[in-house]
Amino acid sequence: MSALYTLGADTVLQPGDPAYDVATTPFNTRYLGRRPRAVVSVGSVSDVVRAVDWAGQTRVPITPRGGGHSYAGYSIGPGLVLDLRALDRIDVDPEAGLITVGGGARNGAVYATLRRHDLAVPLGNSNEVGIGGLTLGGGVAAVSRAFGLTCDALVRTEMVLADGRTVTCSATEHPDLFWACRGGGGGNFGVNVSFTFQAREPRSSSTCLLLWDGADARTVLTVMQDVMTGAPDEFAARIGVARALRGPAGVSVIGQHLGPATELRELLAPVLSAAPTSRCEITDRDYWDAKDFLHHETSGGAFAVRTRCTPKPLSENGIDTIVAAIDRWPGSSNPDGAGVALFTWGGAINRVPVSDTAFPHRDTLFLVSMDTSWGASDPALRVSRNMDWLDGLYEDMGAHASDAAYVNFTDPALADWRSSYYGPNYARLAQIKKHYDPDRVFDFPQAV
Ligand SMILES: Cc1cc2nc3c(=O)[nH]c(=O)nc-3n(C[C@H](O)[C@H](O)[C@H](O)COP(=O)(O)OP(=O)(O)OC[C@H]3O[C@@H](n4cnc5c(N)ncnc54)[C@H](O)[C@@H]3O)c2cc1C
Repeated sequence: MSALYTLGADTVLQPGDPAYDVATTPFNTRYLGRRPRAVVSVGSVSDVVRAVDWAGQTRVPITPRGGGHSYAGYSIGPGLVLDLRALDRIDVDPEAGLITVGGGARNGAVYATLRRHDLAVPLGNSNEVGIGGLTLGGGVAAVSRAFGLTCDALVRTEMVLADGRTVTCSATEHPDLFWACRGGGGGNFGVNVSFTFQAREPRSSSTCLLLWDGADARTVLTVMQDVMTGAPDEFAARIGVARALRGPAGVSVIGQHLGPATELRELLAPVLSAAPTSRCEITDRDYWDAKDFLHHETSGGAFAVRTRCTPKPLSENGIDTIVAAIDRWPGSSNPDGAGVALFTWGGAINRVPVSDTAFPHRDTLFLVSMDTSWGASDPALRVSRNMDWLDGLYEDMGAHASDAAYVNFTDPALADWRSSYYGPNYARLAQIKKHYDPDRVFDFPQAV
């Protein structure tokens, strides 16, 4: 990597450098041990241009790294990793309600700025996730049924392309790239050095946290699917069945409603009367408290996630398949355990035509997310049993939900990822890739 001299030795990390190990640690420790040739920390657009130029000349593959939360560790490639974390400037135009965010900023910082200006952009439930990966793959938040996807709020993005050019992409400038940056997936078309979003007014909210014993899983899933089928866009929930460590299965409904708790309690009445809860909190909150309440806590470690989509409630057989799989889970030492969650999509997400953005899943009622996790102390046999369990469940759910999958819940085991992630939009994405990155400077195993 000596030719990176132009960037200054202090910004280039190579194997052996103590900071290199930190900079190459993936969020999902399943991918620990990936050893890129070097990591360069970029603090300005011209740093990015120099690094991309260098990669183009030397034919070393280059990988942008935002928040580092790719489920498949895709922000740690074999060549030069471009650590964007220092590109974290955030500017607000309060008159226009526009917020411009550096390509390496994390959700938490963006949320904090939005909160100061009392403006809302749907950003999802983790403060640590990077705005880059989130936006480029779509971005779903608890408020997305009312406010749309993160990428639906994008009005402009500045990019450094494979040929070193810096361009602005919007509805009128490089509209094809702008289209691709709304759901086409991170790391494919260049380095997005900034994103500008149209914010809106936050709305006062209420939240629910409901828990039941696993024995009530069938009832709760059946009734909650009905509840969500008729629910207003203001309400979204994560309906989960899960097990961890040696514990029994449990069922949960966690959600946000852009309205008062009295309304939310009414919406939930059918499920509250269907089975006795072990915990039931339905609480009025302001928008920001609701966001903090929904923050995703995780034990970290190693995990795998597979997804499918369904435009309608799962059948009784589909629910039985989930419940039976949870009973069969082989166990692991990771407190996150394993589970299946139905994330309620639809609403405003579905009102955008499929061809308007690269994000294709505009007819989905539930994202069906299946996951398992394990820890460093689990032997290889237990890990492989967990993976077999997940693959078996994924296959069995094929009878009940479509092959469509969410690119941001990246699944490296997905055979036909082109059609699962992108559906009818893949062909256009491939054309755009050929036009803007013909030599595949930006490449990874599931790159367009
Ligand atoms: C704890 C947790 C909570 C989550 N919550 C949600 C949620 O609520 N809603 C949701 O929709 N998703 C959620 N996700 C999934 C998340 O959207 C994806 O993992 C996302 O890709 C992470 O982006 P990142 O920048 O942090 O990751 P990275 O690993 O840095 O990047 C992911 C991909 O995008 C590329 N990339 C990143 N930044 C840029 C950039 N500026 N320019 C070009 N390419 C870039 C990378 O090369 C890589 O291919 C969650 C994930 C985790 C681990």
